[in-house]
Amino acid sequence: MPNRKPKVVVIGIDAADPDTVAKLVSKGGLPNFARLMQNGATSKVFPFIPVTAPSWSSIYTGKNPGKHGVYSPLVPKPGGYEVTVVSSKQRDAKDLWEILSDNGLRSIVINAPATYFPRPMNGILIAGHYTPADAVDFIYPPETAEEVNRAIPGYKIYPRPTYNPASRFSELLVGMRRTATLAEHFLDNHDCDFFMVVLRETDEAQHTFIDDQERLTQLYEEVDRIVGRIISKLGSETFLIVVSDHGATPIRERFDVLGKLIESGLLTLEPRSSSRKAKFLRLVARIIVALNLQPILDWPLLSRLVRAVKSRVMGLHISTVRKLTHLICWEKTSVYPYLNVGFRINLVGREPSGVVKPEEYNQACEKLISLLKDWKDQKTGQPYFRMVCRASEIMSGDHIDLAPDIIALPNDGYWPFVWKEAAETLGTRRLTWSGAHALYGLLIISGPFVRKGVRLEDCNVTDIAPTILPLYGLSVPSDMDGRPLINAFEEHAVKMLNISVGPPTGKPGETRHLTPEEEYQVEENLRRLGYLD
Ligand SMILES: [Zn+2]
Repeated sequence: MPNRKPKVVVIGIDAADPDTVAKLVSKGGLPNFARLMQNGATSKVFPFIPVTAPSWSSIYTGKNPGKHGVYSPLVPKPGGYEVTVVSSKQRDAKDLWEILSDNGLRSIVINAPATYFPRPMNGILIAGHYTPADAVDFIYPPETAEEVNRAIPGYKIYPRPTYNPASRFSELLVGMRRTATLAEHFLDNHDCDFFMVVLRETDEAQHTFIDDQERLTQLYEEVDRIVGRIISKLGSETFLIVVSDHGATPIRERFDVLGKLIESGLLTLEPRSSSRKAKFLRLVARIIVALNLQPILDWPLLSRLVRAVKSRVMGLHISTVRKLTHLICWEKTSVYPYLNVGFRINLVGREPSGVVKPEEYNQACEKLISLLKDWKDQKTGQPYFRMVCRASEIMSGDHIDLAPDIIALPNDGYWPFVWKEAAETLGTRRLTWSGAHALYGLLIISGPFVRKGVRLEDCNVTDIAPTILPLYGLSVPSDMDGRPLINAFEEHAVKMLNISVGPPTGKPGETRHLTPEEEYQVEENLRRLGYLD
């Protein structure tokens, strides 16, 4: 039994949706959530970009994407159109547990997205989502791997998925339970000051099953049980923060972003290969999608064959975003979709084949902004985007040069195709997705001197880290963008916390870049799970 219990515990639930939780609680379900909300402060949180990698990065660092440099699971390589995938190397900011380490405090962090390759810290880190599928070195310190294996024999971040819906759903529940078991093991057997665990499967499960009310309810009930299991391990003096990086919502309609740019004369594709072989392979892929034969991809032999078919069609084993790099005719393109989260102007002097001159840049941005704002669902008259702005209006920092020029956040229920034609030709699983991300995430804070049943307004994912640090008597680094959520605490406690601003955080710990083979594994895994076209 450990001598000291963590003072703050964060349970991260990827894509946990505040409205869905509220609805299920109001119907008398989710007893643990209900109790937490009754005894704590609840809010919706704004994520800048409602995408897993940037949003969790802001939760860990208290900084906006312009500072930490993560805008998407894909990360641009400077000076070109090429991209790589997110890793701990790309997050150029100290994580909360690194700041705690600097102050002699020990943390245990389990399954947090984008923490591979583990950066050294005082404590234990088991990396989560975006770890290369075959990695064995995702645990810090390495000697803890043996203990993880004893707790869960053969522990893997991604057990091999099947595509049969019924078994996939139970696999996702099993995955969450394994993470919970690991969390309980470390809470039972180790001292620490800060503890964090993230459930990933809630995101994937809602992309696939959000229209299935029964399964959706089962999913949240399972999460509720896991929250209950973790609460039972905590002391009465522990602060518990439940947080999600964005919400989830059914897809009402998909819209074709690339098509819009082409139609508006802003983007031109290279002519497509029209050889007989290419046509035949495209036909095969189309038939598979049309007849909904994706489950045959589970057959090991066929799976290899179908993947070969896919890769032959486009020539390479890479994501749509990367393919686009090779398929856009850059000399005839002034705007291109960027990292699945916005748009970039093809600027002379910045892009290798830029066509928009610097003096035309502002006008090009304004033109694109009005085009996107005026773009509406013809059936309902509702705009596809709820927010279209220059990234520099909501973000700032050393990495703003790699941001999209224009951020465009879809209205809940609308889901953009980066490239409709590619999605159809290649038969990606996204076509079968029924759920999209909703903008706002969920936040519940409970613990000693937290105001009971209060609702907080205008919270941001960057507020989590600055709210946690003062609970350890630490100052809030001056380069964090968030602010402590003092409205969550009783007045006398706010005085007692004596919150102050301290020096900036400095550079994060040493880590390494992914090898090309690891990048390939991450990308291939994201494609397999449905996250990339
Ligand atoms: Zn997410």
